[in-house]
Amino acid sequence: MPVAPEGSATVNAPLLLQPYACDPARTRGRRFLEAPAPTRSDFQRDRDRIIHSTAFRRLVYKTQVFLNHEGDLFRTRLTHSLEVAQLGRSIARSLGLCEDLVEAVALAHDLGHTPFGHAGQDALNACMHDEHEAASMLPGEPAGGFEHNMQSLRVVDDLEERYPAFNGLNLCFETREGILKHCSRANAQWLEAREPGGVGARFLSGRNPSLEAQLANLADEIAYNAHDIDDGVRSGLLTLEQLESVALFDTYRRAALQEFPGLKGRRLLFEAIRRMLSAQVYDVIDATRHAVRDAGVCDVEDVRQAGVLVRFSPEMKRQSSDLKRFLLVNLYRHPQVMETTGRARQVVSGLYAAYCAAPEEMPLQHASGEGVGLSRRVADYIAGMTDRFAIKEHERLTGQRLFT
Ligand code: MG
Repeated sequence: MPVAPEGSATVNAPLLLQPYACDPARTRGRRFLEAPAPTRSDFQRDRDRIIHSTAFRRLVYKTQVFLNHEGDLFRTRLTHSLEVAQLGRSIARSLGLCEDLVEAVALAHDLGHTPFGHAGQDALNACMHDEHEAASMLPGEPAGGFEHNMQSLRVVDDLEERYPAFNGLNLCFETREGILKHCSRANAQWLEAREPGGVGARFLSGRNPSLEAQLANLADEIAYNAHDIDDGVRSGLLTLEQLESVALFDTYRRAALQEFPGLKGRRLLFEAIRRMLSAQVYDVIDATRHAVRDAGVCDVEDVRQAGVLVRFSPEMKRQSSDLKRFLLVNLYRHPQVMETTGRARQVVSGLYAAYCAAPEEMPLQHASGEGVGLSRRVADYIAGMTDRFAIKEHERLTGQRLFT
């Protein structure tokens, strides 16, 4: 079995926050002042707002790796986000970090993803870099191109329409900081002009986010590495034999077989993945405890000045990188996946061209918008689509049927 971290008898005990955790009672607050909720902390409230948002429900019909219509049991952005939240919460509790904040960031981290996963994002980004966009850009909108992390922030800051007094969900600084995992310099400057010293500032000064944000980020990686193995085998594009070349997986496949000789097929796959996940969780808990201690951080501001502290041990990091490389070569670049993503790109760029030529084909709030140019409004509309809606719209507007 995977080795539990040092002091594991008490590993799940702390519900008390460590001094370097984000305490909801000391949040840097919301952009628009609101009275506190009587029964929930600010981070619980953020999580609840995310769960009730429209963008969150759309995740159920958005691609992770396999298109939604390719099978009912593959991960979607929604089930992926739930798995990230589960891993994040369980590590947070052991480290004395704020579980509610990790959960909120995990559930929101993919809200800005386009339909068709990375293929959709790349296509939209390419469309957004053309001269059409430059011509239509207005000062009230982000810099050129399409970045899904920036779009996730845009969803919670601007695009959700649920409250009478403001756009977006009016989340706390710490939640927004965690959602904006990456950001180009141009967009960081745009954010900084809009919100001085806000969520864009760290990308300009080279600082890090809270431990909770760092944890949601690493939990994302642990989650997709594991579930992409599962989905890869389920799809028939990967085999258990192929996976024997991946040390991180094979160690736990062998361990499972040693304890249960004769175990095979699906149960062997699941047991190996389960053990692999536990080993990574324990590794992160141990390595992070040491890193936090060695860095001598006393509070959240110290954390932001320090290097990335939520981490794997060097050996686990190496093994995790090997697994990622394996998935890239054998799954994400599998001819069958590439063929589907090629058609997905066509759908997204076809939709972009069609709406730019005929904005009236979009719903009214996208067809005309205040302070935001046509290109960005088209991108916001496309990014919000589910896979199947994008396919249907593309067929309606172009007459081409790319997916049956
Ligand atoms: Mg993710």
